[in-house]
Amino acid sequence: MKVLKFGGTSVGSPERMKKLLDIVNPSERQIVVLSAVSGTTNSLVEISQAYLANDKNKALELIKALKDKYEIFIKELFAKDEFLAKGKDLIDYHFYLLTSFSNDLFTPIEEKVVLAQGELISTTLYHIYLQEIGVKSILLPALEFMKIDEDNEPIVDYITEKLTPLLVSDNNLYITQGYICRNSFGEIDNLRRGGSDYTASLIGAGIKAEEVQIWTDIDGMHNNDPRIVKGTTPISHLSFDEAAELAYFGAKVLHPQSVFPAQRYKIPVRILNTMDPKAFGTLISSESSAETIKSIAAKDGITAIKIQSSRMLLAYGFLRRVFEVFERYKTPIDMITTSEVAVSLTIDDTKYLGEITRDLNDFGMVEVDVNQTIICIVGNLGANTHGGAAKIFDALKDIPLRMISYGGSNHNVSLLIRSEDKVETLRSLHQGLFGVN
Ligand code: ADP
Ligand code: ASP
Ligand code: MG
Repeated sequence: MKVLKFGGTSVGSPERMKKLLDIVNPSERQIVVLSAVSGTTNSLVEISQAYLANDKNKALELIKALKDKYEIFIKELFAKDEFLAKGKDLIDYHFYLLTSFSNDLFTPIEEKVVLAQGELISTTLYHIYLQEIGVKSILLPALEFMKIDEDNEPIVDYITEKLTPLLVSDNNLYITQGYICRNSFGEIDNLRRGGSDYTASLIGAGIKAEEVQIWTDIDGMHNNDPRIVKGTTPISHLSFDEAAELAYFGAKVLHPQSVFPAQRYKIPVRILNTMDPKAFGTLISSESSAETIKSIAAKDGITAIKIQSSRMLLAYGFLRRVFEVFERYKTPIDMITTSEVAVSLTIDDTKYLGEITRDLNDFGMVEVDVNQTIICIVGNLGANTHGGAAKIFDALKDIPLRMISYGGSNHNVSLLIRSEDKVETLRSLHQGLFGVN
């Protein structure tokens, strides 16, 4: 069985939704994971923010504007009155739910219910559309099998246990929602922005799928951020480790965590272009290809923390005690570099920054730098290769570097820079490493 995930742009208009059947083959067994129609989740975020700020009028205005878009959407999607009426009922139901929050207390629990509406709408609309044109499909409620634990980690065994019995019908085509799940309290929750990729990979892992396909609006993982750098090109093959590194460090085409479940069960992941289905895209598998440097990505919103302590740094157990502070506040560390007198670490989750710096003050002088960016360069950069690092540093001779991490794995160099230098850094690296700008 294959898992095919279509992102927001791929279901972004009635025309695009109809065109999915150029790619989805109803005679092959497959699970189709859909995102919300593009722009919808952003609107739902704005609606939640208005509710959280107790600005009910603004929330209701935003809901009305979004509903108007869907009224037009369904008129173009459905040809027959009977199915248009079903679409209308669906839209009325979900938008009534959104407006009903104006009568109640609005907490983060309701916020997650609001955010879930986009995927619930897109999948049901597509299911009704398939009914209209006589293609049989089964709509699987993701809230019945996607679950995260108290640390927000998805539970693959739960997915296997709950999803497998739902796949027994002799129907081939299953449709389900990306992004949404239930948490350990049984409440509606989500896998964070861009989470439909993660859903697809988790389902792939849960049912040991033959392949996971991520259909999006670009022909694969590119060798740099195409929104910032001109002349980027798709990378045909990436290993799981390389893809995980790029996704985690900012290549938006894949959700940061989405490679891990597929990697664990060695399920190949393809990134493919809905607008150009014949393009090869990117194949992520256990195998890599030989290029020295393959791709560059950038992750913003990083905070660097330096602990200066000539007295303690080299003392036995010092680093363990530093790490314990981060563990206490469940805050992952992305990069780390050490010297004899100081250690620098980076985090992207600053929820407990105050508590962390307070606790670290016991060990020495603490300095915090905000607005930092990690630049991640991925390729074959093991100890028996040479020249890669020289090229990287040559390309960066005019850029102040705050931290450098090299040798942590064979396929990654990470650099920490000021966010204001990001655009110049990505462009200089592209010029220096791939010879184009
Ligand atoms: P979807 O809605 O299909 O999930 P996304 O917008 O989440 O699509 O991801 C696709 C976008 O990611 C592309 O349009 C592109 O602008 C952006 N992107 C950022 N970095 C990369 C990269 N390295 N390779 C390809 N696309 C990238
Ligand atoms: N709709 C969600 C978002 O916009 C999930 C996704 O598109 O993957 O973040
Ligand atoms: Mg995405």
